[in-house]
Amino acid sequence: MDNIGHLVGGKRVAGTSGRTGPVFNPATGEQSAAVALASAAEVDAAVKLASKAQLAWGATPPLMRARVMFRLKELLEKNKDDIARLITLEHGKTFEDAKGEVVRGIEVVEFACGIPYLLRGDMTPDVGRGIDTWSARHPLGVVAGITPFNFPVMVGLWMSPMALACGNAFIWKPSEKDPTSSLRVAELMMEAGIPEGVISVINGDKEAVDALLAHPDVAAISFVGSTPVGEYIYRTGCANAKRVQALCGAKNHMVVMPDADLDQTVDALMGAGYGAAGERCMAVSVAVAVGKIGDKLIEKLSPRVSALKVGPGMDPQSEMGPLVTKEHLAKVKGYVDLGVKEGAKLVVDGRGLKLQGYENGYYMGGCLFDDVTSDMRIYKEEIFGPVLSVVRAPDYAAAIKLVNEHEYGNGAAIFTRDGDAARAFSAEAKAGMIGVNVPIPVPLAFHSFGGWKRSIFGDRNSYGPEAVGFYTKLKTTTARWPTGIRAGAEFVMPTMR
Ligand code: NAD
Repeated sequence: MDNIGHLVGGKRVAGTSGRTGPVFNPATGEQSAAVALASAAEVDAAVKLASKAQLAWGATPPLMRARVMFRLKELLEKNKDDIARLITLEHGKTFEDAKGEVVRGIEVVEFACGIPYLLRGDMTPDVGRGIDTWSARHPLGVVAGITPFNFPVMVGLWMSPMALACGNAFIWKPSEKDPTSSLRVAELMMEAGIPEGVISVINGDKEAVDALLAHPDVAAISFVGSTPVGEYIYRTGCANAKRVQALCGAKNHMVVMPDADLDQTVDALMGAGYGAAGERCMAVSVAVAVGKIGDKLIEKLSPRVSALKVGPGMDPQSEMGPLVTKEHLAKVKGYVDLGVKEGAKLVVDGRGLKLQGYENGYYMGGCLFDDVTSDMRIYKEEIFGPVLSVVRAPDYAAAIKLVNEHEYGNGAAIFTRDGDAARAFSAEAKAGMIGVNVPIPVPLAFHSFGGWKRSIFGDRNSYGPEAVGFYTKLKTTTARWPTGIRAGAEFVMPTMR
């Protein structure tokens, strides 16, 4: 069994806290490793090294930092399959899906290659006679990223390329459930030319996170994960005078209008509801069937859900892998039990699925509920599993009300052939990412990404152009070079004439 430590000061180091957590292969249920859980003292040591290393990195011209990003892009592309394999072995998602995750991360590195342009300042000559003013963006110093289990590489790559390209040192605290792939990515960052100490990976749990939140030399925290933890991190980080962005949980609705193309809608719901076993923040977990389309939708959807090929992520035949842990599997099955108790109609029941040869893996089949209502807990809460709820709505007005009154607002989609309905939906839906005949409006590095309502805390979305603002502070300089002619004390507020 492997022992997974940290990456600090340019090399892998063993943990010294004496605490570890188990890492499992969800496909087999076997423990594959023990991951070190860092103490506050280990976090402090990493932050100290990062603070020191950041000074030279922050003073490195952006053009040179961009060249490191170009090399990183090449290395990630070269090692894409190896990284994806590491993801599948600890997360469980299919190998194809894991490769997709790495590619989406690489897209952020590509965006970061343009950092000299993104960081360019503003200059106004002659704000007064012989006086010029310019504004320039400066790195914050040491920033930390706390990432979730469901995208162990992509989410860290949402944050770190932009944080590093802006001249910061980055401390990555991955999920303790699937930590190996982040260490590999950090090693490639070093191979690309990120100096020792500028990138660190600290494995751990709440103790490590609390140490980062309390550390006076950590200037900013980026978090992606569940809403209760995100809210805690946002409140604590802000109370400690840090910048915090926290992207959180979701319950994404897809509104299916009566005129929607049913085949396309069903294909979209299969991918968005059951891809990655529903463990995606952009998964569609609620389909709102408007008018009379509900019966036809259930009729077409249920055989597809029943026929889902569930199996180990490394098996190319598998469409859906296992859930991440035994506890999470029990939680998701518990929600299905609850839905039945609450009176929803369980049209497809995947709870009993067993795979020959993989009896200890964390598998379940896809589940489909009909007649779910907005007062049920299975509607209100994020299940984060392969469970799709169909809610019936009489008309568009009732459907948009459901979307807008839900606590979460990460993404929302509409399937329709009617441009007017789509246009209204895009304007009215209270969610950060909108799909029109697109079930998962995935993030693109050159746009921002983030939800609304309790799907986000903080005023900056993740990455893209928004990340430049988040990971830098502005400095405005006003300068003149007096020759003596215009010198002399001014006793009133200068007016720059
Ligand atoms: P999580 O909140 O349990 O964990 C996220 C991170 O926080 C991990 O690194 C974990 O170690 C740490 N953490 C956990 N409990 C903590 C605590 N009490 N105090 C301090 N730190 C703690 O989330 P998860 O289960 O790993 O990920 C799934 C969640 O992430 C879902 O809710 C999903 O919607 C959300 N998510 C959101 C987005 C988005 O962009 N909005 C993207 C991906 C995932």
